[in-house]
Amino acid sequence: MRKKAHLALARAAKKMKLAEACESTDVGEVQEHVLHGGGDADFDVQADNVLQADNIRITQSASATKLQKFQAHNGGDNANVLQSDSDRVWTFVEMGQLNSLISSVLCPECQQNSVSLILGNAKMGFSREMTLSCTNCGELKCVHTSPRIGRSADQNVGFEVNRLAVLYTHEIGGGFRSLSKLSAVFGMPGLHEKTFYNLNQKICQKIQETGEATLDVTADIVKQEYLSVYPNGRPVADVDEEWEEEEEDVPWIDVSFDGTWQKRGFTSHYGVGIAIDVLTGYVIDFEVLSTYCHTCAINRAKLEQMTDAERQEWEQNHQPNCCINHEGSSKSMEREAALRLWGR
Ligand SMILES: [Zn+2]
Ligand SMILES: [Zn+2]
Repeated sequence: MRKKAHLALARAAKKMKLAEACESTDVGEVQEHVLHGGGDADFDVQADNVLQADNIRITQSASATKLQKFQAHNGGDNANVLQSDSDRVWTFVEMGQLNSLISSVLCPECQQNSVSLILGNAKMGFSREMTLSCTNCGELKCVHTSPRIGRSADQNVGFEVNRLAVLYTHEIGGGFRSLSKLSAVFGMPGLHEKTFYNLNQKICQKIQETGEATLDVTADIVKQEYLSVYPNGRPVADVDEEWEEEEEDVPWIDVSFDGTWQKRGFTSHYGVGIAIDVLTGYVIDFEVLSTYCHTCAINRAKLEQMTDAERQEWEQNHQPNCCINHEGSSKSMEREAALRLWGR
Protein backbone atom coordinates (compact mmCIF):
# COMPACT_ATOMS: atom_id res chain seq x y z
CA MET A 1 0.00 0.00 0.00
CA ARG A 2 2.87 2.36 0.74
CA LYS A 3 4.17 1.83 -2.78
CA LYS A 4 0.79 2.83 -4.13
CA ALA A 5 0.79 5.98 -2.02
CA HIS A 6 4.19 7.02 -3.38
CA LEU A 7 3.05 6.47 -6.95
CA ALA A 8 -0.16 8.41 -6.39
CA LEU A 9 2.00 11.35 -5.26
CA ALA A 10 4.29 10.92 -8.27
CA ARG A 11 1.32 10.88 -10.61
CA ALA A 12 -0.10 14.01 -9.00
CA ALA A 13 3.26 15.75 -9.49
CA LYS A 14 3.31 14.65 -13.13
CA LYS A 15 -0.25 15.91 -13.54
CA MET A 16 0.75 19.37 -12.28
CA LYS A 17 3.71 19.48 -14.65
CA LEU A 18 1.50 18.48 -17.58
CA ALA A 19 -1.00 21.22 -16.70
CA GLU A 20 1.82 23.77 -16.53
CA ALA A 21 3.09 22.63 -19.92
CA CYS A 22 -0.42 22.97 -21.38
CA GLU A 23 -0.81 26.49 -20.00
CA SER A 24 2.32 27.59 -21.78
CA THR A 25 1.05 26.40 -25.18
CA ASP A 26 -1.03 28.63 -27.40
CA VAL A 27 -3.77 26.03 -27.91
CA GLY A 28 -6.03 27.49 -25.30
CA GLU A 29 -6.55 28.13 -21.64
CA VAL A 30 -6.52 25.09 -19.43
CA GLN A 31 -9.83 24.95 -17.64
CA GLU A 32 -9.45 21.63 -15.98
CA HIS A 33 -7.03 18.80 -15.89
CA VAL A 34 -8.59 15.48 -15.12
CA LEU A 35 -7.56 11.97 -14.31
CA HIS A 36 -9.92 9.28 -15.51
CA GLY A 37 -9.92 5.87 -13.89
CA GLY A 38 -10.23 2.92 -16.23
CA GLY A 39 -9.18 -0.63 -16.93
CA ASP A 40 -7.64 -2.39 -13.98
CA ALA A 41 -8.72 -0.18 -11.10
CA ASP A 42 -6.30 2.55 -10.09
CA PHE A 43 -3.29 1.01 -11.83
CA ASP A 44 -4.67 2.07 -15.19
CA VAL A 45 -5.24 5.71 -14.46
CA GLN A 46 -4.91 7.78 -17.61
CA ALA A 47 -4.16 11.47 -17.79
CA ASP A 48 -6.34 13.30 -20.29
CA ASN A 49 -5.71 16.95 -21.00
CA VAL A 50 -8.98 18.74 -21.44
CA LEU A 51 -8.37 22.05 -23.16
CA GLN A 52 -10.96 24.74 -23.61
CA ALA A 53 -10.57 27.18 -26.50
CA ASP A 54 -13.35 29.52 -27.66
CA ASN A 55 -16.05 27.30 -26.21
CA ILE A 56 -14.77 24.34 -28.17
CA ARG A 57 -13.72 21.48 -25.96
CA ILE A 58 -10.57 19.96 -27.34
CA THR A 59 -9.91 16.71 -25.56
CA GLN A 60 -6.46 15.38 -26.01
CA SER A 61 -6.49 11.66 -25.40
CA ALA A 62 -3.94 9.97 -23.20
CA SER A 63 -2.66 8.21 -26.34
CA ALA A 64 -2.09 11.54 -28.11
CA THR A 65 -0.26 12.85 -25.06
CA LYS A 66 1.90 9.75 -24.99
CA LEU A 67 2.66 9.93 -28.73
CA GLN A 68 3.80 13.54 -28.44
CA LYS A 69 6.82 12.43 -26.47
CA PHE A 70 7.78 10.10 -29.31
CA GLN A 71 7.71 12.75 -32.01
CA ALA A 72 10.96 14.14 -30.69
CA HIS A 73 12.43 10.66 -30.99
CA ASN A 74 11.11 9.89 -34.52
CA GLY A 75 9.04 7.04 -33.15
CA GLY A 76 5.36 6.39 -32.77
CA ASP A 77 2.93 4.57 -34.99
CA ASN A 78 3.14 2.34 -38.01
CA ALA A 79 2.62 5.23 -40.42
CA ASN A 80 6.25 6.12 -39.71
CA VAL A 81 7.45 2.61 -40.45
CA LEU A 82 8.13 3.28 -44.14
CA GLN A 83 9.44 6.80 -43.59
CA SER A 84 7.74 8.04 -46.74
CA ASP A 85 8.80 11.55 -47.69
CA SER A 86 6.45 14.13 -46.25
CA ASP A 87 6.32 16.01 -49.56
CA ARG A 88 4.12 13.31 -51.15
CA VAL A 89 0.53 14.32 -51.88
CA TRP A 90 -1.79 11.36 -52.56
CA THR A 91 -5.36 11.37 -53.82
CA PHE A 92 -7.90 9.28 -55.68
CA VAL A 93 -8.36 10.84 -59.12
CA GLU A 94 -10.95 9.93 -61.73
CA MET A 95 -9.32 10.38 -65.14
CA GLY A 96 -12.36 12.17 -66.66
CA GLN A 97 -11.97 14.91 -64.05
CA LEU A 98 -8.30 15.29 -64.85
CA ASN A 99 -8.93 15.38 -68.61
CA SER A 100 -11.67 17.99 -68.27
CA LEU A 101 -9.09 20.11 -66.52
CA ILE A 102 -6.39 19.80 -69.17
CA SER A 103 -8.79 20.02 -72.14
CA SER A 104 -8.20 23.78 -72.14
CA VAL A 105 -4.40 23.35 -72.24
CA LEU A 106 -2.64 23.88 -75.57
CA CYS A 107 -0.32 21.24 -76.98
CA PRO A 108 3.29 22.56 -76.69
CA GLU A 109 4.01 21.22 -80.24
CA CYS A 110 0.98 22.16 -82.37
CA GLN A 111 -0.66 24.77 -80.11
CA GLN A 112 -4.08 23.06 -80.36
CA ASN A 113 -6.56 22.05 -77.61
CA SER A 114 -5.92 18.42 -78.42
CA VAL A 115 -4.08 16.99 -75.41
CA SER A 116 -5.34 14.31 -73.04
CA LEU A 117 -3.99 12.01 -70.35
CA ILE A 118 -4.16 8.27 -71.00
CA LEU A 119 -3.51 5.46 -68.52
CA GLY A 120 -1.43 2.49 -69.70
CA ASN A 121 -2.28 -1.13 -69.00
CA ALA A 122 1.16 -2.36 -67.93
CA LYS A 123 0.95 -4.28 -64.62
CA MET A 124 2.75 -2.39 -61.87
CA GLY A 125 0.28 -2.85 -59.06
CA PHE A 126 -1.43 0.39 -58.13
CA SER A 127 1.06 2.45 -60.12
CA ARG A 128 0.08 3.14 -63.74
CA GLU A 129 1.85 4.62 -66.72
CA MET A 130 0.22 7.97 -67.46
CA THR A 131 0.84 9.43 -70.91
CA LEU A 132 0.24 12.97 -72.07
CA SER A 133 -0.88 12.62 -75.68
CA CYS A 134 -1.88 14.93 -78.46
CA THR A 135 -4.30 13.72 -81.15
CA ASN A 136 -2.16 15.53 -83.75
CA CYS A 137 1.37 14.94 -82.44
CA GLY A 138 1.05 11.59 -80.61
CA GLU A 139 2.76 10.79 -77.31
CA LEU A 140 4.29 13.83 -75.60
CA LYS A 141 5.38 12.68 -72.16
CA CYS A 142 4.96 9.66 -69.91
CA VAL A 143 5.23 9.32 -66.12
CA HIS A 144 4.19 6.75 -63.50
CA THR A 145 1.32 7.71 -61.23
CA SER A 146 3.50 6.80 -58.23
CA PRO A 147 7.18 7.61 -57.68
CA ARG A 148 9.50 4.70 -57.15
CA ILE A 149 10.71 4.32 -53.57
CA GLY A 150 12.85 7.34 -52.69
CA ARG A 151 12.08 8.78 -56.17
CA SER A 152 14.66 6.38 -57.53
CA ALA A 153 15.21 6.32 -61.29
CA ASP A 154 16.24 2.65 -61.06
CA GLN A 155 13.75 0.44 -62.94
CA ASN A 156 14.25 -2.34 -60.39
CA VAL A 157 13.06 -0.24 -57.45
CA GLY A 158 9.40 -0.72 -56.48
CA PHE A 159 6.65 1.89 -56.35
CA GLU A 160 5.77 3.73 -53.17
CA VAL A 161 2.02 3.34 -53.69
CA ASN A 162 2.29 -0.45 -53.56
CA ARG A 163 4.26 -0.42 -50.36
CA LEU A 164 1.79 1.97 -48.73
CA ALA A 165 -1.13 -0.18 -49.92
CA VAL A 166 0.34 -3.21 -48.14
CA LEU A 167 0.98 -1.13 -45.01
CA TYR A 168 -2.70 -0.12 -45.16
CA THR A 169 -3.76 -3.77 -44.93
CA HIS A 170 -1.69 -4.05 -41.73
CA GLU A 171 -3.39 -1.00 -40.27
CA ILE A 172 -6.89 -2.40 -40.89
CA GLY A 173 -5.94 -5.91 -39.80
CA GLY A 174 -6.65 -7.20 -43.32
CA GLY A 175 -4.60 -8.93 -45.96
CA PHE A 176 -4.33 -9.58 -49.67
CA ARG A 177 -8.11 -10.10 -50.04
CA SER A 178 -9.00 -6.70 -48.56
CA LEU A 179 -6.67 -4.99 -51.01
CA SER A 180 -8.07 -7.00 -53.95
CA LYS A 181 -11.58 -5.90 -52.94
CA LEU A 182 -10.49 -2.27 -52.91
CA SER A 183 -9.17 -2.54 -56.47
CA ALA A 184 -12.30 -4.43 -57.55
CA VAL A 185 -14.60 -1.71 -56.18
CA PHE A 186 -12.68 1.02 -57.99
CA GLY A 187 -12.22 -1.13 -61.09
CA MET A 188 -8.48 -0.53 -61.09
CA PRO A 189 -5.58 -2.96 -61.27
CA GLY A 190 -4.21 -4.07 -57.92
CA LEU A 191 -1.25 -6.01 -56.61
CA HIS A 192 -0.36 -9.51 -57.73
CA GLU A 193 -0.57 -11.95 -54.81
CA LYS A 194 3.14 -12.78 -55.03
CA THR A 195 4.11 -9.09 -55.04
CA PHE A 196 1.82 -8.52 -52.08
CA TYR A 197 3.51 -11.21 -49.98
CA ASN A 198 7.00 -10.05 -51.01
CA LEU A 199 6.21 -6.52 -49.89
CA ASN A 200 4.42 -7.84 -46.81
CA GLN A 201 7.52 -9.67 -45.66
CA LYS A 202 9.62 -6.52 -45.92
CA ILE A 203 7.01 -4.45 -44.10
CA CYS A 204 6.70 -7.03 -41.31
CA GLN A 205 10.45 -6.85 -40.80
CA LYS A 206 10.34 -3.05 -40.77
CA ILE A 207 7.45 -3.03 -38.28
CA GLN A 208 9.40 -5.37 -36.01
CA GLU A 209 12.53 -3.20 -36.19
CA THR A 210 10.47 -0.06 -35.53
CA GLY A 211 8.73 -1.78 -32.62
CA GLU A 212 12.05 -2.70 -31.05
CA ALA A 213 13.42 0.81 -31.58
CA THR A 214 10.24 2.22 -30.02
CA LEU A 215 10.75 0.07 -26.92
CA ASP A 216 14.29 1.44 -26.61
CA VAL A 217 12.96 5.00 -26.82
CA THR A 218 10.25 4.11 -24.27
CA ALA A 219 12.84 2.80 -21.85
CA ASP A 220 14.71 6.13 -22.09
CA ILE A 221 11.54 8.18 -21.60
CA VAL A 222 10.46 6.08 -18.62
CA LYS A 223 13.90 6.39 -17.01
CA GLN A 224 13.80 10.18 -17.48
CA GLU A 225 10.28 10.41 -16.01
CA TYR A 226 11.28 8.47 -12.89
CA LEU A 227 14.40 10.61 -12.57
CA SER A 228 12.39 13.82 -12.78
CA VAL A 229 9.89 12.56 -10.20
CA TYR A 230 12.52 10.97 -7.93
CA PRO A 231 15.73 12.98 -8.48
CA ASN A 232 17.26 11.31 -5.41
CA GLY A 233 16.11 7.80 -6.29
CA ARG A 234 13.03 5.88 -5.21
CA PRO A 235 12.17 5.99 -1.49
CA VAL A 236 13.62 2.98 0.30
CA ALA A 237 10.11 1.77 1.18
CA ASP A 238 9.40 1.34 -2.56
CA VAL A 239 12.35 -0.83 -3.39
CA ASP A 240 13.36 -4.29 -2.28
CA GLU A 241 16.66 -4.15 -0.45
CA GLU A 242 18.24 -6.94 -2.48
CA TRP A 243 17.38 -5.09 -5.69
CA GLU A 244 19.21 -1.94 -4.58
CA GLU A 245 22.32 -3.92 -3.85
CA GLU A 246 22.32 -6.01 -7.01
CA GLU A 247 20.91 -3.78 -9.74
CA GLU A 248 22.16 -0.26 -9.12
CA ASP A 249 22.00 0.82 -12.78
CA VAL A 250 18.52 -0.59 -13.38
CA PRO A 251 15.80 1.73 -12.10
CA TRP A 252 13.04 0.26 -9.95
CA ILE A 253 9.75 0.89 -11.73
CA ASP A 254 6.19 -0.29 -11.10
CA VAL A 255 4.41 -2.10 -13.89
CA SER A 256 0.96 -3.47 -14.52
CA PHE A 257 0.45 -6.51 -16.71
CA ASP A 258 -2.39 -7.31 -19.06
CA GLY A 259 -3.12 -9.86 -21.71
CA THR A 260 -5.32 -9.68 -24.75
CA TRP A 261 -6.36 -12.02 -27.54
CA GLN A 262 -7.08 -11.56 -31.23
CA LYS A 263 -10.52 -13.14 -30.74
CA ARG A 264 -12.82 -13.45 -27.73
CA GLY A 265 -13.80 -16.66 -26.03
CA PHE A 266 -10.42 -18.33 -25.53
CA THR A 267 -10.35 -19.76 -29.08
CA SER A 268 -7.85 -17.25 -30.40
CA HIS A 269 -4.69 -18.41 -32.15
CA TYR A 270 -2.92 -15.23 -31.10
CA GLY A 271 -2.45 -13.63 -27.70
CA VAL A 272 -0.37 -10.72 -26.44
CA GLY A 273 0.99 -10.06 -22.96
CA ILE A 274 1.89 -6.46 -22.17
CA ALA A 275 3.88 -4.87 -19.35
CA ILE A 276 2.91 -1.23 -18.78
CA ASP A 277 4.83 1.28 -16.69
CA VAL A 278 2.41 2.63 -14.08
CA LEU A 279 3.87 6.15 -13.90
CA THR A 280 3.87 7.00 -17.62
CA GLY A 281 1.35 4.51 -18.98
CA TYR A 282 3.81 3.40 -21.67
CA VAL A 283 4.10 -0.18 -22.83
CA ILE A 284 7.62 -1.17 -21.88
CA ASP A 285 7.61 -4.75 -23.16
CA PHE A 286 5.30 -7.26 -24.79
CA GLU A 287 5.21 -10.86 -25.87
CA VAL A 288 3.13 -12.19 -28.77
CA LEU A 289 2.11 -15.84 -28.58
CA SER A 290 0.83 -17.82 -31.53
CA THR A 291 -0.59 -21.33 -31.81
CA TYR A 292 -1.00 -21.04 -35.58
CA CYS A 293 1.39 -21.10 -38.52
CA HIS A 294 0.02 -20.68 -42.04
CA THR A 295 2.90 -22.59 -43.64
CA CYS A 296 2.35 -25.53 -41.28
CA ALA A 297 -1.41 -25.41 -41.94
CA ILE A 298 -1.20 -25.48 -45.74
CA ASN A 299 1.42 -28.26 -45.66
CA ARG A 300 -0.44 -30.48 -43.17
CA ALA A 301 -1.78 -32.92 -45.80
CA LYS A 302 1.63 -33.11 -47.49
CA LEU A 303 3.33 -33.74 -44.14
CA GLU A 304 1.00 -36.64 -43.31
CA GLN A 305 2.12 -38.44 -46.45
CA MET A 306 5.82 -37.98 -45.71
CA THR A 307 8.01 -40.57 -44.04
CA ASP A 308 9.21 -39.80 -40.50
CA ALA A 309 12.66 -38.84 -41.80
CA GLU A 310 11.23 -36.54 -44.49
CA ARG A 311 8.89 -34.88 -42.01
CA GLN A 312 11.73 -34.34 -39.57
CA GLU A 313 13.84 -32.73 -42.29
CA TRP A 314 10.95 -30.48 -43.37
CA GLU A 315 10.30 -29.43 -39.78
CA GLN A 316 13.97 -28.71 -39.19
CA ASN A 317 14.13 -26.46 -42.28
CA HIS A 318 10.88 -24.71 -41.42
CA GLN A 319 11.58 -24.28 -37.70
CA PRO A 320 13.35 -20.85 -37.90
CA ASN A 321 10.36 -19.40 -39.80
CA CYS A 322 7.56 -21.20 -37.97
CA CYS A 323 5.01 -18.85 -36.37
CA ILE A 324 4.00 -21.27 -33.60
CA ASN A 325 5.65 -20.30 -30.31
CA HIS A 326 3.03 -21.60 -27.88
CA GLU A 327 1.65 -25.13 -27.57
CA GLY A 328 -0.87 -24.79 -24.72
CA SER A 329 -4.45 -23.49 -24.69
CA SER A 330 -5.36 -19.91 -25.56
CA LYS A 331 -6.35 -19.44 -21.93
CA SER A 332 -2.82 -20.25 -20.78
CA MET A 333 -1.32 -17.62 -23.11
CA GLU A 334 -1.61 -14.75 -20.63
CA ARG A 335 0.24 -16.69 -17.93
CA GLU A 336 2.89 -17.91 -20.38
CA ALA A 337 3.43 -14.37 -21.75
CA ALA A 338 3.93 -13.05 -18.20
CA LEU A 339 6.43 -15.82 -17.50
CA ARG A 340 8.43 -14.97 -20.60
CA LEU A 341 8.35 -11.21 -19.94
CA TRP A 342 9.50 -11.60 -16.35
CA GLY A 343 12.08 -14.13 -17.45
CA ARG A 344 13.88 -11.53 -19.57
ZN1 LIG B 1 -0.01 18.54 -80.69
ZN1 LIG C 1 5.09 -23.45 -38.94
